[in-house]
Amino acid sequence: MFLTISTTGTPERPATDLGFLLHKHPEKAQAFSTSYGTAHVLYPEADAERCTAGLLLEVDPVALVRRGKGKGRGGAPDAALAQYVNDRPYAASSLLAVALSTVFSSAMRGVCNARPERAAQPLPLCIEVPALPARGGPDLVRRLFEPLGWAVTVEPVALDSEFPQWGDSRYVRLVLASQTLTLAGALRHLYVLLPVLDDAKHYWVAPDEVDKLLRAGEGWLPGHPEQNLITSRYLSRRWSLTRQAREALELVRLAEADDSAVEEIDNAVEAETQTEEKPTPLAVQRRDAILAALRESGASRVLDLGCGQGQLVQALLKDPRFTEIVGVDVSVRALTIASRRLKLDRMGERQASRVKLFQGSLAYTDNRLKGYDAAVLSEVIEHLDLPRLPALEYAVFGAARPRTVLVTTPNVEYNVRWETLPAGHVRHGDHRFEWTREEFRAWAEAVAERHGYGVEFAPVGPDDPEVGPPTQMAVFETRTVNEKEAKAA
Ligand code: SAH
Repeated sequence: MFLTISTTGTPERPATDLGFLLHKHPEKAQAFSTSYGTAHVLYPEADAERCTAGLLLEVDPVALVRRGKGKGRGGAPDAALAQYVNDRPYAASSLLAVALSTVFSSAMRGVCNARPERAAQPLPLCIEVPALPARGGPDLVRRLFEPLGWAVTVEPVALDSEFPQWGDSRYVRLVLASQTLTLAGALRHLYVLLPVLDDAKHYWVAPDEVDKLLRAGEGWLPGHPEQNLITSRYLSRRWSLTRQAREALELVRLAEADDSAVEEIDNAVEAETQTEEKPTPLAVQRRDAILAALRESGASRVLDLGCGQGQLVQALLKDPRFTEIVGVDVSVRALTIASRRLKLDRMGERQASRVKLFQGSLAYTDNRLKGYDAAVLSEVIEHLDLPRLPALEYAVFGAARPRTVLVTTPNVEYNVRWETLPAGHVRHGDHRFEWTREEFRAWAEAVAERHGYGVEFAPVGPDDPEVGPPTQMAVFETRTVNEKEAKAA
């Protein structure tokens, strides 16, 4: 198992700085023992212009089998011989990734005491992996590395060069080149993506692998177009871990998008306030409609899902019939603003015991949401990508299952009535979709049907005879047992 890392230099910045960055002296070959054999670091070339470090892992197949006994899923564990005779000694797999992180751990973290300023800077890099097992082929290799700023050369390796008619093996020769990455960034890409391409982890995937993935993926994995494939393969398709990782990555992505999203929400609220006829802004009418529907439902313990900056939570607090109010949002920034608005830190104990805010994503089931009388999704569903909507549907109607659910969303038909809205535009940038009354009704009725709720619809704002109201609201109530029985009868 072998890979090389090369860089070029200038008189001011000699290429041999690579030795400092890797914490391995170019003048000598060094050996390190790892759990699966001996890792050698050597420099085939090292001068001011060009410097190449090679990492060679001499796998001890016996140690590998012994360590993996009864737990791994590497290679073909059933056949006794295959345990010893396999590609492990030659191909750059997850073992090489582990060796990389053992031997170059400081470099991977971007730590370099001798040249601290160099560690943070991009440098010309060329990485070559002569035999990389690549499940998914050259195409996937490109899809994984190119979005990260690598120029990728990938050549299939023939099964046997003497017999080209046998076709290609599952190995490729990979050459990566970049001028824009730091060494630490580059190593972290390899650490994650070598095992992803290998797709056969040699060791048991433990829960802390999620943390390792998130740490190594910091700054590049959230938002990578193949993020889902990467997490699922890296975690050997262990679904619960994959889910944890995806949820964490989504929180990171949303937190990054956070500032702009919250600003957009601010602007949208303001825009709505301005375009509405003075007396009652639409946002206020919506809140009033929601409060009225909650009172009618008799709810006292209420979830505000996607609570944003906490306006509804604040209104609910003013009515003592709501004894427990929980605001949930994925955006930390929105929650911070909400907690400031509510003056949570200065609130008397009695009030404070009625209200809770926490961060969470509605695209995942969450035990903290169970057992409430009612849940409100006010102007939230349109912020999710349509393919994520079934996940929200399941989390709310399938798992949390409050007795009442109120959902509001814009009625896109009404958009022609907004004077300031250019034709064909949604009401603000973060809306992933806006529905007609018909579309909303079809969705809501299907949801109700699937989860045993009844649903009714109510307009919010002026109900235009042609295009309907600006906001549409669905009121879901769980069907009582008797009704269900009556229906069944
Ligand atoms: N309910 C408020 C805010 C609506 S804006 C109101 O009616 O004014 C939409 C809110 O949904 C934002 O605060 C956004 O952060 C939140 N949101 C978007 N996707 C989410 C998700 N997957 N999980 C939880 N909250 C989400």
